[in-house]
Amino acid sequence: MKILVINAGSSSLKYQLYNMTDETVLASGRVERIGMDSSIVTHEPADKPEVRHVSEILDHTTAVKRVIDMLTDAEHGVLHNMNEIDAVGHRIVHGGETFKDSVVVNQEVKLEIKRLFDLAPLHNPAHMMGINAVEANLPNVPQVVVFDTAFHQTMPRTSYLYPIPTVLYNRHKVRRYGFHGTSHKYVSSQASAFLGQPLEQLKMVSCHIGNGASCTAILDGKSFDTSMGMTPLEGLMMGTRSGDLDPAIVPYVMNKEELTLNEVNSMLNKHSGMLAVSGLSSDMREVEQAMNEGDSRAKLAFDMYVYRLRKYIGAYAAGMNGIDVLLFTAGVGENSSTLRRAVCEGLTFLGIELDEERNSVRSKETRYISADSSKVKVLVVPTNEELLIARDTYELVQRKQNS
Ligand code: AMP
Repeated sequence: MKILVINAGSSSLKYQLYNMTDETVLASGRVERIGMDSSIVTHEPADKPEVRHVSEILDHTTAVKRVIDMLTDAEHGVLHNMNEIDAVGHRIVHGGETFKDSVVVNQEVKLEIKRLFDLAPLHNPAHMMGINAVEANLPNVPQVVVFDTAFHQTMPRTSYLYPIPTVLYNRHKVRRYGFHGTSHKYVSSQASAFLGQPLEQLKMVSCHIGNGASCTAILDGKSFDTSMGMTPLEGLMMGTRSGDLDPAIVPYVMNKEELTLNEVNSMLNKHSGMLAVSGLSSDMREVEQAMNEGDSRAKLAFDMYVYRLRKYIGAYAAGMNGIDVLLFTAGVGENSSTLRRAVCEGLTFLGIELDEERNSVRSKETRYISADSSKVKVLVVPTNEELLIARDTYELVQRKQNS
């Protein structure tokens, strides 16, 4: 079975084509600047050179058509024709309280995703354009939606409710949802397989540290608590997002700086975090480099980032009454040995002991970075959200065909 995984944004669309027989990626790529002039399609077949095309792509339906053209192109393609695409899996940011798992798309599912537009106004409408674009181009191909929030639907009320008037939850579903669920689910099951221990027997803290960042407490194999909240703004300090702050800052700053709601929202989401504190960049590589060259603001940004992450790990260890596994994933978590060392150095009280040599090794494989004597096993686990989307799609489509 060949499965196309799509992550549709408002002006971009990323794709990967999987052969599920051996879970290999046959091709991947992206369409950028949809709806603007000179849209760019970058197509990377597994065994052939990358190609780039610049042309006008006015909407998502045309974008998907271009992707199919690329996949079936005589020179750069990997398929004979589009009938070889057996199913399509979509990444959807927000599934609200409705979607506790991945589902096959039908009219009802589409309506529900639409009802959730308010909760993810930047993402869900774009995903819907992706679903409709696939429907227009591949009308008979089953589609599956995989939600970033679904894994966290197991959180108990003590984790997901905010201590604010209950009417806001009842009327508007104001609560914590959490994100990066597909990644946390994938890496926790990889870690369990790597350790040869069932997930149900492990208390895990999973740190997905990329440009966006979140930390999840996993108990009995289920999300027990997570740092992102109703939106991805809550929790850890991130590349450009503030993470946790006193909510009273919002009206105060709006008043003092005469900012609108949109402006303050944009300030906290796009102009805060590592970028704001370092005054330099949201990219950890640049911040680390500047820190190593003696830049004091970069050092402060790095130290705050580490401190805030360490506090969450400690809080989750307390929340679960223990921790067996600490794992790092995503761009920063997988690549920055400096960050991992700094975080773990302050967690010796939990029984975390890093092995410096293991921590320095660069690899694309799941690996230990803790010492043999460490009470808590510390792992680096490369994430692969697309693969999990492909797996869920495969499983659901097979189940549907067999029923
Ligand atoms: P992601 O959102 O998972 O793609 O992660 C992107 C982030 O990973 C970027 O902001 C980079 O700062 C960070 N990153 C990638 N490689 C490295 C590295 N070698 N050292 C530190 N940070 C890195």
